[in-house]
Amino acid sequence: MRTDYCGALSPALIGRQVALCGWVARRREHGEHLAFLDLRDHTGLVQCVVDGAAELRSEYVVRVVGTVRARPEGTENPNLPTGEVEIGDCEVEVLNTAEPPPFQLDERVEVDEMVRLAHRYVDLRTERMQRNLRVRAKVNGALRSAMDRQGFVEVETPMLIASTPEGARDFVVPSRLSPGQFYALPQSPQLFKQLCMVGGVDRYYQIARCLRDEDLRADRQFEFMQLDAEASFVSQDEVLEFISVAISAAVEAVTGDTVAEIPRMTWLEAQERFGSDKPDTRFGLELMELTEVFADTGFNAFKAPCVKGIRVPGGGDATRSRLDDLTDKAKRWGAKGLVWMRVKDGGQLDSPVAKFLSEAELAALVDTTGAEAGDLLLLVADERPAVRHVLGLLRLELGRPPVTEGGLQFLWVVDFPLFEAVGDDGSPIPAHHPFTMPHPDDVGLLDNDDAQALLDVRSQSYDLVLNGWELGSGSVRIHRGDIQARMFGLLGISEEEAQAKFGFLLDAFRFGAPPHAGFAFGIDRLVALLAGEENIREVIAFPKTQSGTDPLTHAPTPIDTGHLEELGLRLLPAKKTD
Ligand code: ASP
Repeated sequence: MRTDYCGALSPALIGRQVALCGWVARRREHGEHLAFLDLRDHTGLVQCVVDGAAELRSEYVVRVVGTVRARPEGTENPNLPTGEVEIGDCEVEVLNTAEPPPFQLDERVEVDEMVRLAHRYVDLRTERMQRNLRVRAKVNGALRSAMDRQGFVEVETPMLIASTPEGARDFVVPSRLSPGQFYALPQSPQLFKQLCMVGGVDRYYQIARCLRDEDLRADRQFEFMQLDAEASFVSQDEVLEFISVAISAAVEAVTGDTVAEIPRMTWLEAQERFGSDKPDTRFGLELMELTEVFADTGFNAFKAPCVKGIRVPGGGDATRSRLDDLTDKAKRWGAKGLVWMRVKDGGQLDSPVAKFLSEAELAALVDTTGAEAGDLLLLVADERPAVRHVLGLLRLELGRPPVTEGGLQFLWVVDFPLFEAVGDDGSPIPAHHPFTMPHPDDVGLLDNDDAQALLDVRSQSYDLVLNGWELGSGSVRIHRGDIQARMFGLLGISEEEAQAKFGFLLDAFRFGAPPHAGFAFGIDRLVALLAGEENIREVIAFPKTQSGTDPLTHAPTPIDTGHLEELGLRLLPAKKTD
């Protein structure tokens, strides 16, 4: 049916008879009988000059046979890759008609996302979606071959499983054969990949679909894809190395450039300098330590365990309403207040609080921050975690570049704490998952009875960050039953509960579990950043909306009573929502 693709036509092919297939992107009348027809396929557009095209409407599916020729001088279109040529002497065969499309397939026209998703099959025809899906396929291909090359074997793990401990809510599937029992859909293949290690697989990977019933955001869908990997007899360094190789291969497949050695930063340094465990290192505005500067201050608001600030070069022209807006935001993020100072000529500080600070404090402040005339200083004082958190968000608010700027800044964040907080029951909550090995230097600290003190214990877990997005996490695992039992004890998980939830893993560990470690990163997020998209929905063929529905298939949908009965289920009356 077809000899060439539309987007591949160029002056080199002038004189060639071609058969093209695709959709009518546009028809423009040209004189009484002639019309210009833009024909579109997945590679692009080409202009066809057609005699008697009255019957051809937008999105009709056609086959055009004609001859490639140069466009008449002065009519070339430099904005179109095929803009130097057109197809003449065209014969058009209509392969199928089409109703008028529900929206204009024009990159320059902003279309409501609900409309796009309801007719995703039409939306997929746009250049943007075609490009994004192909970027995605390239990334998947490159990841597979990079893992294969490194001796990893692809193992598929089941979708209908018992719950996994990734900390989110499970999606569940009722069992017909065991009424009243449920499968969980995997939040990740975590336990199975660890079982593969016990099973001697040595190096496992999978491009795995993971499902988590969490609120959706720009970078989160119910179901998402991860490159999931695990290896035996390896250290943290080796994991970072093989994942770096895979990442670099994926980036190279899309951009042509490899990734230089990915820098590492400890979790603590990331928090102190960027106020985040996923720092966006494309820009500065780092947090500066000012606690010492105000150690003996008489200013009440700065009598706090921690004072930090950021210097915004050239930010001194911020209007009062912008500063009020930043103050409101800081308070919403948990700050008691935000102190701003505009730096004037000669290092004078213009601020409502300047009069409460001593000359020595003001001078030390200018000195420590390196502030120059025209800058803006923003200071927060509070408990250390609160200060970091608020300034970290302010930093993003003030300096974060758009997704398409600043290149690809990868970063390994290492030495995460083992526990992220103390729960209501007084037990610490794991920062990663309960199978994460403590840092060898901090094992002794685990004997502490004070749950708060346990928050200082570091773990052998690590994250990969790209431009401020958490791409993925991993850890060295606990492979010894005795350490695992101790960990469950610390987490307040009783032996019975551990046995009920993870008994199969604990049993497996009694039969010769090798030391092992692994990692998983989100392919949707990586592809979105490589494609220059802010939202992962743009790189997923059939995503859900923010409210978790699919306007195309209308999922989720009710099921009939017969089906419910077969599953042994009865519905409660719907909860009232207002
Ligand atoms: N299973 C973890 C996750 O999905 C990753 C890992 O620890 O390998 O976040």
